[in-house]
Amino acid sequence: MKNINDIINILNETAQNPKKAVDVIIENGEKVCGIMPAFVPEEIAYAAGYIPVGIWGSDGEIKNAQSVMPPFCCSIMMSVIENQLKGIYDVCDFIVVSSLCDTLKCMGQKYKGKSPIIQISHPHNRSIENAVDFAAEEYSILREKIENIRGSKITDRDIFNAIEVYNENRKALRRFGEISYKYSDIITPVIRRNVFKSGYFMDRKNHTELINSLCDLLEEREAVSDKKGVVLTGIIADDRKILDMLYRNDFYVAADDIVNESGFANCHAPDEKDPIIFLAKMWTGGKSTLFAYDPFKKRAEHIIDEVKRTGAAGVVFCYMPFCDVDAFDEPIIVKRLKEENIPFIKIDFGMQDTNYSRAETKIEAFSEMLEL
Ligand code: SF4
Repeated sequence: MKNINDIINILNETAQNPKKAVDVIIENGEKVCGIMPAFVPEEIAYAAGYIPVGIWGSDGEIKNAQSVMPPFCCSIMMSVIENQLKGIYDVCDFIVVSSLCDTLKCMGQKYKGKSPIIQISHPHNRSIENAVDFAAEEYSILREKIENIRGSKITDRDIFNAIEVYNENRKALRRFGEISYKYSDIITPVIRRNVFKSGYFMDRKNHTELINSLCDLLEEREAVSDKKGVVLTGIIADDRKILDMLYRNDFYVAADDIVNESGFANCHAPDEKDPIIFLAKMWTGGKSTLFAYDPFKKRAEHIIDEVKRTGAAGVVFCYMPFCDVDAFDEPIIVKRLKEENIPFIKIDFGMQDTNYSRAETKIEAFSEMLEL
């Protein structure tokens, strides 16, 4: 049986060397497909025999992407195009992208890599009657396009099996999210990120086993709370230097409202006889997200609930530079946090950052302020 360090090492290695992890999948004879942000029903691709791999950009200098993308485009998609120009994603048999924001809407046209790209749309207004039908229609088209690429039909049974694999994985990640804040001595912000991130670069079945074993081992330990908890919110908080900075300044991550972390884990739906309807309802019945129309902005209430549940000392707004979707929510969240007297800071999580002095000063000041 693996011990905590063995498991954490595997998750760290996978999350920190995604290319190597994907090469291993391919060397083992499996086929991979790319999944861009966010809420793509990747279960359909998994049912077709592909290992879905997350395409959420990466650190690194932008040299050529600005010849394709406008300079004000978010740094995730800038980095995706930079990687595409280097041919990094050409190992994918196809890539799926959803049209959840204006930048993503253009990706089907902008992306010129070797892998065919399949663009789908989600209904932004999830509460109207036709939203489930709309999503189901889009997902059926996705199914058909994947069938054409693989050259054979995907059965309902295959999709149900894939749904089960993903449901188990989401359940394990929710379990981890619920308990990990009690073990701040071992679950540093970087390790916590790696637990979620590694799932995008391995078979979800294997990932579930690792996460459940990790949770079992954590629960055998005594809870430790020697630092200040923060709740992270945003699209992605994938900058190792900033996460290390938080830990150095005595913070741990108590919970998150990050799209590619708990945003992935929190998707679930009641059972359905039709697997495509099940997947459609997972979107229409999902928790409040910055990607969907929500006149009541329950996202702010969810963040406040997480602060109260975990006893966190504050909130870190992890902002992806130039992401208008997230920026629109910010004033509403800030207003509610002020009303609740919850301290917060906003840190840029751009993937091309080289100068961290501003972030460091803000985090140090936030830490000192919370001690007063
Ligand atoms: S970070 Fe924002 S702008 Fe960029 S793809 Fe995501 S939602 Fe769209």
